[in-house]
Amino acid sequence: MAGLSLKNVYKVYAGRNTQKKGLIKTIKALFKKSEQQTPSVEKRSGNFVAVKDFNMEIEDGEFIVFVGPSGCGKSTTLRMIAGLEDISSGELYVDGKLMNDVDPKDRNMAMVFQSYALYPQMTAQQIIEFALKLRKIPEEKKDTDGNPVLETDKKKIKELTKKIKTIEKQLQKADGQQSAEELSAHKQQLEADLKYYSETPVQAYTYRHMTKEEISAKVRWAAKILNIEELLDNKPAEMSGGQRQRVALGRAMVRDPKVFLLDEPLSNLDAKLRTTMRSEIVKLHNELKTTFIYVTHDQIEAMTMGTRIVVMKLGVVQQIDTPTNLYDYPENKFVAGFIGTPQMNFFDVTAVRNGKKLSVTFTNGGKAEFNLDKLRKINEEYLDGNEHRLTLGVRGESISVSEKQIENSVPVTLSVKEVLGNVTQLFFKLDGEENDYVISVPGRSTFGEGGLLYISFSEKNIHLFDAETEQSVMGRQTGNK
Ligand code: ADP
Ligand code: MG
Repeated sequence: MAGLSLKNVYKVYAGRNTQKKGLIKTIKALFKKSEQQTPSVEKRSGNFVAVKDFNMEIEDGEFIVFVGPSGCGKSTTLRMIAGLEDISSGELYVDGKLMNDVDPKDRNMAMVFQSYALYPQMTAQQIIEFALKLRKIPEEKKDTDGNPVLETDKKKIKELTKKIKTIEKQLQKADGQQSAEELSAHKQQLEADLKYYSETPVQAYTYRHMTKEEISAKVRWAAKILNIEELLDNKPAEMSGGQRQRVALGRAMVRDPKVFLLDEPLSNLDAKLRTTMRSEIVKLHNELKTTFIYVTHDQIEAMTMGTRIVVMKLGVVQQIDTPTNLYDYPENKFVAGFIGTPQMNFFDVTAVRNGKKLSVTFTNGGKAEFNLDKLRKINEEYLDGNEHRLTLGVRGESISVSEKQIENSVPVTLSVKEVLGNVTQLFFKLDGEENDYVISVPGRSTFGEGGLLYISFSEKNIHLFDAETEQSVMGRQTGNK
């Protein structure tokens, strides 16, 4: 079990002809730029920034989902956590311990991928126990009288000596005054540690393989939770996709990892199986209570599985929040559009405060007035009596439709009607415009395609974004003074 902390984490992939120095320059330039919050990934001198200034505290036992369109840096971030990819700059801590230079195998994390690489000749049992057979477990060393044996920690001493040597080499090459100072300070710290470990005997350990019984008990434990006890003698070819993915999970589980890292583990499964496995993985998390980090491009998976979700776009974190907060309080237009099906409708409007109301004008000239005390709190600067260009966002279920013109309704034409059974989706256009918007109404709808209708909005569910920055201009509380 473990809590994680990511601080200013960047991943910069080097272009073909760039030296390391170029990389460092790119990162430094980015640090300066990040203050201006440019939500895009730069391509400079061939270097590609796949992850930009990722910051997050993950509590022990959370189920975190990284979600975003393909290529937004989810896998890269996960791989940096696993240690399969270097962190270009920034820090990763696990339980307060800096992990940047720790070997993947020493991080005690287990990773499950989309394409389950299971050895075809092995049975499920053999696949799951494979890592356990290789593993050596530490046992406290005792003398013949059963008293603990104390020795200096040779492994630690070797590790520190190696680190000091590396720094000495770096010091010879260090160019800037500042980096030399930093390196010397680091070296002094390591030397102090080395002195401590060389002089202080600690409990000594011996290492042994797990016994057959221990291994078998562990495999049975995992198989029971995953409901694959009957499959243990089967080879991958004899299993369904879902069963194979369970075996892959079992292989990860028996290692008792501190953190589970799952990269789109369900993408290869058909829709029905995906839904089942989704809840299975949530159950597994509830049972193990270990930290899970789960990557997916599917917002429904994210919404149903995560205790918190990280929405990413082009290498930049857009919002970190609970599923319902993402849905109710998206901090920008991208999050608003990414979370929820059907997608939120966005209208370009101009808005001006008019006493206790906000007057909104649509691009086709349609107007509506909203009570400020019913809208979520709007940033003061937008209520200064001047006209502001905003994007009005409203989900299909928060729009009501009528055949008669009522107060504050906007005329539209119904273009297409899609009956899904439990709900009907009405696609409409603002009168005199081309953009399609969508409303979902429960059950069936009697409105005919091509007809003129009037829509009105539920004020408490209205979102407003700055047309330029696309950032939300609203707080989470309702009511404006
Ligand atoms: P996601 O998992 O969100 O789909 P990735 O993290 O795999 O995205 O990739 C993020 C970006 O980094 C993509 O634009 C991808 O092309 C790029 N990228 C990934 N791996 C490498 C690599 N080894 N070298 C260069 N660019 C890479
Ligand atoms: Mg990926």
